[in-house]
Amino acid sequence: MATVNLTLDEIYDLAFSCLTQNGADKINATALAGTIMKAERDGSHSHGLFRLPAYVASLRSGKVNGKARPIATSATPAVVRLHGDNGYAPVAHQVGIPALIEAVKLTGIGVLAMTNVHHMAALWPEVEAIAEHNLVGLACTPYMPSMAPAGATKALFGTNPIAFAWPRPDKTPVVFDMATAAMAMGEVQIAARDGHSVPLGTGLDADGQATTDPSMIAKGGVLLPFGGHKGSAIAMMVELLAAGLVNENFSFEAKEGDNGDGGPPRGGQFILAMSPEIIAGDGWADHCDIFFDRMSGMDGVRMPGDRRHKNRLSTEPRKINDALIEKIRILMTG
Ligand code: NDP
Repeated sequence: MATVNLTLDEIYDLAFSCLTQNGADKINATALAGTIMKAERDGSHSHGLFRLPAYVASLRSGKVNGKARPIATSATPAVVRLHGDNGYAPVAHQVGIPALIEAVKLTGIGVLAMTNVHHMAALWPEVEAIAEHNLVGLACTPYMPSMAPAGATKALFGTNPIAFAWPRPDKTPVVFDMATAAMAMGEVQIAARDGHSVPLGTGLDADGQATTDPSMIAKGGVLLPFGGHKGSAIAMMVELLAAGLVNENFSFEAKEGDNGDGGPPRGGQFILAMSPEIIAGDGWADHCDIFFDRMSGMDGVRMPGDRRHKNRLSTEPRKINDALIEKIRILMTG
C-alpha cells in the first residue's frame, strides 16, 4: 500500500479544510477534525481520515447539520438529556460531557442521554474525556443493521460498539473500546481494500454462508457478533440502552430513516459516568492499582488501550494511504 507521511497538524488541517469547504462551520469542523486527527494519532485507522469521504457525503446531502448547536438540559440532577441538533457526535460531546461531569461530581452517578446525533467515530474519546476527571465512563451507540443476531443470517443490529474507561489519577486510564461485531465494518472494509482475508466467524456472505473474504461480507453479507450468543446479547443491550432508553432510533429504524448517502444515520448515544471517589471512597485508586499490577504482570497479558496510548506518544508523521489523500483532495475541489 502506497502511503504519504502527514504530521498530526497536517492531518487536522486537511480534515478541517475539507469539512469547512463542504458545509461545516468552524465549531463543527474543529470538533470533528480533532476527532479524526486523534484517531490517526492513536492508530485507530478505521475511524480517522478513512471516514472523511462519508462525513462529506452526509454534509453534501444535507442529512447532517454542519452548523449544529447541540443543547443539554437536566431531566434530574443525575440525568442530562442532549439534543444534538442533527450534528456529528463530537460537537455534541463538547456540550454534553462537561454537563455530565458536573452532574456526576455531585450525584456520584449520571447518564448522558443523547438524541439527534450522527455517530461514526471511535467511542474512546468520550470515555477518556470522562476518565480525565477521575470518573468511570461507559458509552455505547447503535448504527444501521449490518450484524445478524446469533442464529440469524440477516442483519438487525449495528456493529454496536461499547467503550469503557477506568480512571487512574495521574496515570493513563485503562480503556477498552470495541465493536460487538467479531470485527468492526471499517476494519472489514480496510481488509477488503488491502486484499486481506478475515478470520472465519467474522461474517456471512449474501447467501448466509460463512466466508473469509471481507468483500463478500461488505457487499450484501452480514457481520456476526463476537462470542456467538454472548456477544449477541451485549449487542442487544446496546440497542436497548442507546435507542430504547435514550428514546432514539434502533439500528433498523435508523436505516429506514436514512438517505443512503454513506454517512452516519441519525441516532442516539448512551453515556454513563460514575465517581469512584463518591461510590468507593478513599483509597479506590491504590486498591485498583494492585489489581492492574497483578493483571498486567501476568505472562501474555497486554492491557486494552495500551497499543493506542503507546501510538499516541509518537511525534512522528503518520502514514496515510495515498489513494485516500487523493480522494479527499478531490472532495475539496469538486
Ligand atoms: P479492536 O478489536 O481492535 O479492539 C477492541 C479493544 O480491545 C480495544 O480497546 C483494544 O485496545 C483491545 N485489544 C485489542 N487487542 C488486544 C489484546 N491482544 N489484548 C488486550 N486488549 C486488546 O476494536 P474493534 O475493531 O472492535 O473496534 C474498532 C473501533 O470501531 C472502536 O473504536 C469502536 O468504537 C469503533 N466503532 C464505532 C462505531 C460507530 O458507529 N461509531 C461502530 C463500530 C465500531 P487497543 O485500542 O489498545 O488496541
